[in-house]
Amino acid sequence: MITLTGKKVSEGIAIGKLSFYKRDIKEVRHIYVKDVEKEISRLQKAKERALFELQELYEISIREVGKANAAIFEMQQDILDNDRLWNRITSIILEEKLNAEYAVKTATEEYLKDNRDKGNEADVRDAAIRMIRILSRSWKDKLYVDEPFIMAAGDLYPSEAVQLDKERVLGFVTKYGTVNSHTAIIARTKGIPSVIALGESLKAEYEGKMIIVDGYEGKIYIEPDYTLLTRMKRRQDENKVHITNLERLKGKENITQSGQKIDICANIGMREDIERVIRSDAGGVGLFRSEFLFMENGNRAPTEEQQFQAYKLAAESMGMNRVVIRTADLGGDKRAEFLEMEKEHNPAMGLRGIRMSLEKEEMFKTQLRAILRASIYGNVQIMFPMITKVEEVIKAKEYLEGVKQELKAEKAFFDENIKVGVMIETPAAVMLSGELAREVDFFSIGTNDLTQFTLGMDRTNEAVMSHYDTKHPALLKMIRIVTNNVHLEGKTISVCGDLAADLSMTEFFVQIGVDELSVAPDQVLGLRKKIREIQ
Ligand code: PEP
Ligand code: MG
Repeated sequence: MITLTGKKVSEGIAIGKLSFYKRDIKEVRHIYVKDVEKEISRLQKAKERALFELQELYEISIREVGKANAAIFEMQQDILDNDRLWNRITSIILEEKLNAEYAVKTATEEYLKDNRDKGNEADVRDAAIRMIRILSRSWKDKLYVDEPFIMAAGDLYPSEAVQLDKERVLGFVTKYGTVNSHTAIIARTKGIPSVIALGESLKAEYEGKMIIVDGYEGKIYIEPDYTLLTRMKRRQDENKVHITNLERLKGKENITQSGQKIDICANIGMREDIERVIRSDAGGVGLFRSEFLFMENGNRAPTEEQQFQAYKLAAESMGMNRVVIRTADLGGDKRAEFLEMEKEHNPAMGLRGIRMSLEKEEMFKTQLRAILRASIYGNVQIMFPMITKVEEVIKAKEYLEGVKQELKAEKAFFDENIKVGVMIETPAAVMLSGELAREVDFFSIGTNDLTQFTLGMDRTNEAVMSHYDTKHPALLKMIRIVTNNVHLEGKTISVCGDLAADLSMTEFFVQIGVDELSVAPDQVLGLRKKIREIQ
């Protein structure tokens, strides 16, 4: 039996066979192209992206496993820069007028045939697969094998993690990653036990082996012995009993012993999560991370109709309980393929959240239309992310007003008095919370981003994780200030970042008078239990 220690990101025990996620290519098709110049430019862009990804992997690997092991990523960059290979790829496009994916595949096969003795076949293939995957922007088909299994990967992009099906992926383990990344958040939202940052000790040779993921301790066991397997199965059973005990709290109030109440809502990202919210007995959806709809939609933005159906389902399912739809918070580590975003030096501080929406006018208006149309099916509210100044809120509200007028002209129905809120996730928003509170109906504190921007530490950077204090006194002070300011204006406040689920913080939130906590569906009843124990 081999034991590996990583970081826990989502609790629970999973037992099953390990399968490495291969970012394989879908069947590459042979397509004639009319505009070869455009095809060459697509190829160039894909190459830039591939080199960028490989450089990132190289840097992470240097930190994690040293220069010698990181060298493969450098080698793969050299392969993409290989003149012979590159010239052949471009000549297939220019002379044979074929698509870039096919050109990469064909040129790679020819290259491998001529260079059999070089011993770098796996790396050449890997580099080519990366290029084709970027070009074809599809890996959806490759996520699943037939039986439920435990997925292993170097790292998972949030856009890949959103596609994991809980019925099939029993747990997941990765070599890299941080507990505050969106991949980790997705694992918690879906309730998939996971351990990340296991490093290079998570070896490809473990493929197909029986493993246990212990999401409570952040450990995985490869080929566990009988005693451990029995103990872990017992732990799984105990967990079921614990969940059954918590189930008794369904229908009960979130009220302290002294009679103070606080609402508990759930955070979701996809249509599939809605059912989990209903089962969790949450008082509504406190945060619908709508950008996940955009990230799972491949190379096209979801249409107004697609979005409308998802929002309508949430609204109908929640009845009179509120459903707070956050407009797409894209950017940072939440990259959607269709946006074809330029490489940013520091994406966490880049074009994201409301900044992106205000630039992508059509995308923003389409989303507002879909939300407004869904608003008559329940208690829908809109929330704008990553706010740094009052003008952004005014501008966003102007768009909302414009879209309302459009819908009125079309005689479409919607809630004219739909409530509007903002996320408080930047120190700028904290400092302006008094002014912002006058512009909106509610606040929601995104402690995840507020922590990274207050501490000046990237939430996805493994190198700073030992300094990353999610309960930093400055942060707690900010939460207090914002709560006071919003209450002075007679408006409400929720906390929807991960700190809301930290049970050591519950008493603090209750004490300062936060109105609502919004957590992953599986965390709702545990939080209710905690609140009911507070004196
Ligand atoms: C947050 O920043 O705390 C938040 C809830 O938003 P996200 O984690 O999606 O960035
Ligand atoms: Mg955020």
